[in-house]
Amino acid sequence: MRPYRVGIVGATGLVGQRLIERLAEHPWFRIEALAASERSAGRLYAEAVSWRLPTELPSQVGALTVRKCRVEELENCDLVLSALDAPIAAELEPRLARAGIPVISNSSAFRQDEDVPLVVPEVNASHLSLLDGVQERNAGGFIVTNPNCSTTGLVMAMAPLHRKFGVERMVVSTMQAVSGAGVEGPRALEMLDNVVPYIPGEEEKIELEMGKILGSIDGARLQRAELVVSAHCHRVATTDGHLEAVSVGLGSDTTTEDVIAALEGFRGEIEDEDLPSASAPAIVVRREVDRPQPRLDRDAGGGMTVVVGRVRPCPVLDFKIEVLSHNTVRGAAGGTLLNAELLAARGRIARRSKD
Ligand code: NAP
Repeated sequence: MRPYRVGIVGATGLVGQRLIERLAEHPWFRIEALAASERSAGRLYAEAVSWRLPTELPSQVGALTVRKCRVEELENCDLVLSALDAPIAAELEPRLARAGIPVISNSSAFRQDEDVPLVVPEVNASHLSLLDGVQERNAGGFIVTNPNCSTTGLVMAMAPLHRKFGVERMVVSTMQAVSGAGVEGPRALEMLDNVVPYIPGEEEKIELEMGKILGSIDGARLQRAELVVSAHCHRVATTDGHLEAVSVGLGSDTTTEDVIAALEGFRGEIEDEDLPSASAPAIVVRREVDRPQPRLDRDAGGGMTVVVGRVRPCPVLDFKIEVLSHNTVRGAAGGTLLNAELLAARGRIARRSKD
């Protein structure tokens, strides 16, 4: 059977570049179309992009002409991966979905919509049932999103604890890499010798997204998990990898060793599905006193493994934990691709034409 034809919108940005890198050798998906802003449209991708990854831009991708972000430019795609900023995604993604094209998005535009699953496959693949009515109404089209890059690592680490002990409240301080701000991220003069204690919209996203992802399906509706989250977000001078210092309050008494055992024993909802982007194990616990560290641990499992460490009692809540995840891989392109693979494996993406 032929590979699925993939369109990427926002293809010249940092997340778009990671998507291209990860699609180069993909066994199920083939890049059909690349689209970006009017500034890039009509140019060869190699000329339009400011390629920022250490891997080479695949030459056949560099030779593609960048298209405009319009439905008619993407109609021959079986699915579209979106790496657009929220205001642009808010315009384009529903149009694509209404045209029958599945959209798997990184953007925050629709993450809180009731009929848009906000999915980290290991944690809540079951939420895809929210699509049942949507696909019927839209001739197969829908929007599925992955969470904010900081939420992804955090929710992966909290899911085993929520399952076993019930997570009731948490305080998280993030140390987020500059690549999280996209290709036009902060200037060196802002970042060197500095920490910026503000990332627009980030704290609100983390606080809202956790309850949706850890929620359960009740009939055809999502029941949000009742947990209280307080987030403090900081931009720091690392290139990739968001580190998060978490204090968590649990619903039942337990020990540090039991918390570690729950993290190490985590079996995600996709453990038995052979998805190409899935990492096994999904979570690694480091026992050293000074790990995880962005430079040493962000590439674990090809960037898809969440690395946790320093599990210890907290005198204010119950436990303190450090969590690290690769923001443009696990928190963005890799997470999007894993969602796309899950949707394909579960028969929710059709090949729109035979040839
Ligand atoms: P980015 O590097 O700034 O890239 C933005 C992309 O959007 C570029 O391809 C750009 O094309 C395109 N674009 C800008 N204005 C446009 C317009 N008016 N019409 C059509 N396309 C337009 O951003 P990014 O970091 O890749 O992030 C992309 C999305 O993923 C955002 O929603 C972001 O919040 C989310 N996200 C990012 C990360 C991360 O770690 N970076 C993690 C999770 C989620 P041109 O090159 O032509 O301008």
